Amino acid sequence: MSEMRWDPIRGEWLVTATHRMDRPQMPRDWCPFCPGSGRVPEHYDVHIFPNDFPSFATPPPEPGLSATKEWRTRKSWGVCDVVLYHPDHHRDFVNLELDHLHKIGRLWRQRYLELFKNKRVKYVFIFENHGEEIGVTMPHPHGQIYGFPLVPPIPAREMKRADAYRAKHGSCLHCDLLAADRADGRRVLFDDGAWTAIVPYYARWPFEAHLYPNRCVQHLGQLDDAELRPMMRAIKRVLGAYLSYYGKTYPYILCFHQAPPRGPLGKGAHLHVELYPIRRSPTKMKYRAGCETGAGLFINDSYPEEKAAELREHLPPLED
Ligand SMILES: [Zn+2]
Ligand SMILES: [Zn+2]
Ligand SMILES: [Zn+2]
Repeated sequence: MSEMRWDPIRGEWLVTATHRMDRPQMPRDWCPFCPGSGRVPEHYDVHIFPNDFPSFATPPPEPGLSATKEWRTRKSWGVCDVVLYHPDHHRDFVNLELDHLHKIGRLWRQRYLELFKNKRVKYVFIFENHGEEIGVTMPHPHGQIYGFPLVPPIPAREMKRADAYRAKHGSCLHCDLLAADRADGRRVLFDDGAWTAIVPYYARWPFEAHLYPNRCVQHLGQLDDAELRPMMRAIKRVLGAYLSYYGKTYPYILCFHQAPPRGPLGKGAHLHVELYPIRRSPTKMKYRAGCETGAGLFINDSYPEEKAAELREHLPPLED
């Protein structure tokens, strides 16, 4: 069963997707995402297809419980795509050539625009879960794209604040913070002229990094082909710094925050990529524990300024 349920206490929706319990766990001897599996084309470069175990579906199933005054529910309509990055089972994002990554960038942008042609799509979330510790069930290098029937809480909050800032100050909250960060320098991983990467002042995770195009755009649809390449280069470079620091493959979450191309929210938004490696050292995990989960207050046991300095030591050289 899959449905959306309303939490009247916190004032937000959540999704139940119980059919996902049956999804396969990390098959060792066979991979449905490898060419020749019968599930994907014999030959592909990058490939996008619907998730077999979606959290949202089109058409949506009927909710398992009917709504009452107290218990609001709605159908979990939505789109869940899988994006296969490369036919080679063993080549993670960080190990792909820039020319190939550029194709993934173009696919992301194309699908972002395509999904919004459907008026029911209110937000498109592009992300990658990487590593068993994050809960990845398929080791083949891939990311996901969700078309949500609502704007999820974190992007909604970010956009509300940035929109209010623009209305009050007439400038972009993100650009103003980036300018302050560049002037300060301590948390900047790099500014390569097209993209800037920082460990934010307000990082919740030790090695959290946020990546921004220097040109203030609100969403992927506003980047032209030539601008997608530096985006992929910037992401690969930060992932490469983590790889060098951790010394081996590591769990992380990659996600995009961007405005929808229409609607009331996001006039003050600035497209960015957020990276969350969840280890605080090559061997130790940072967990979402009592304060983080129960109180919503993150405790970061390191200084972003120090972590940024450590990561800068591990940055791979800039690729052409
Ligand atoms: Zn595979
Ligand atoms: Zn901006
Ligand atoms: Zn964000």
